[in-house]
Amino acid sequence: MTAVTAARRGRRVLVLEHNGRVGNKILISGGGRCNFTNYLATPDNYLSGNPDFCKSALARFKPQQFIDWVEQHGISYHEKKLGQLFCDESSRQITGLLLQDCADAGVEILVNTKVTGVEAAPAGEGSARLIVQTDKGPMSCESVVVATGGLSFPKLGANDIGYRIAKSFGLNVTEVRPGLVPLTFSPRDVKAYGDLSGISMDVVVSCAGRRFRENILFTHRGLSGPAILQISSYWKEGQPLTIDLSPDEKLEEWLVSKQPERTELVNVLSLRLPKRFVQAWCARDCPSKPINQFAIKRLREIAQTLHRWEIYPAGTEGYSKAEVTLGGVDTGELSSKTMEAKRVPGLFFVGEVVDVTGHLGGFNFQWAWASGAAAGGSA
Ligand SMILES: Cc1cc2nc3c(=O)[nH]c(=O)nc-3n(C[C@H](O)[C@H](O)[C@H](O)COP(=O)(O)OP(=O)(O)OC[C@H]3O[C@@H](n4cnc5c(N)ncnc54)[C@H](O)[C@@H]3O)c2cc1C
Repeated sequence: MTAVTAARRGRRVLVLEHNGRVGNKILISGGGRCNFTNYLATPDNYLSGNPDFCKSALARFKPQQFIDWVEQHGISYHEKKLGQLFCDESSRQITGLLLQDCADAGVEILVNTKVTGVEAAPAGEGSARLIVQTDKGPMSCESVVVATGGLSFPKLGANDIGYRIAKSFGLNVTEVRPGLVPLTFSPRDVKAYGDLSGISMDVVVSCAGRRFRENILFTHRGLSGPAILQISSYWKEGQPLTIDLSPDEKLEEWLVSKQPERTELVNVLSLRLPKRFVQAWCARDCPSKPINQFAIKRLREIAQTLHRWEIYPAGTEGYSKAEVTLGGVDTGELSSKTMEAKRVPGLFFVGEVVDVTGHLGGFNFQWAWASGAAAGGSA
């Protein structure tokens, strides 16, 4: 995005990529269909040390601008849910769009070229302000836009070079951690729920003042699914997740109404919740017996517990499973209009390497496009 925008302004642009091709994350994203934007994106969909920082770039490059671009290229797309737009066919269409417009604008792309650092150019180097060190030798230039992403999915080549470049110029980098990531059970919960792999439930999950209404998915090691990925970006070690397992149907009066029956509690609850989950939950936390043997007060407590099911995750599945990296180059170091480092003229940071992280659902690409366009308009 930066390359196209800058080249269209008449800048000579060289893209350096250490993989054998550009856009690997785009290619695997959205299950191969790339959730390329979210037309409902607002600054509230982003986490950052400074929640206002993303406003300027997002306001100047809106989801509709990317949608127009997609349409100009004849790429058909659909909304999956909640404003999330996916290609009908393949993520390749998005890399194809970017590569074609880069080529048309005269952008040069060097793959299999690893950047190892960036330095200030010595005085008297003409217009060159910075030198990029690569495994193919040094390259001097007026501006460097660091778009090296975060630490997620190291198997695709993710690494910490962007943070190292920032630090080498004395710029602050905030603490980084995996985001949009499955959470793992404690050993005690693995014992109780580890066999429920594959069960999915529509829930409301809350943590640290945030709530998300989506599905959770049990895995062998913990919890995943969109609701968990979303809340994982807010969760910190030691905090509980509170999960409403029946957000639409209030269980309390319904359960009380069943009290005269002789049906086992486990079978009654299985009318509303997945049976295997109910069996596991009862086995550990609420031994089943005929429902008429429970006092009304106890049935109310059971209902409340299921509306406020508490889980203390042991941790996350880490960067190998995280869709994004939270934290990054401190927004206080950057101009929100141009993404240029305030203290290093010519050095820009865009996309995931910056301490701006989107929710699940196309928001991270929208940030990459918007921040990339902001830098491309100035670099
Ligand atoms: C599995 C998965 C699915 C995702 N799905 C979606 C989705 O559907 N929608 C969405 O909005 N977001 C999605 N994301 C998040 C999204 O992919 C990222 O937020 C986005 O790609 C960030 O863009 P970026 O340009 O900042 O970094 P990246 O896309 O990570 O690009 C960084 C580039 O820099 C290159 N690089 C790194 N180090 C060097 C070096 N030393 N020298 C040269 N080149 C280097 C890398 O090879 C890479 O090509 C997904 C992420 C993952 C992991």
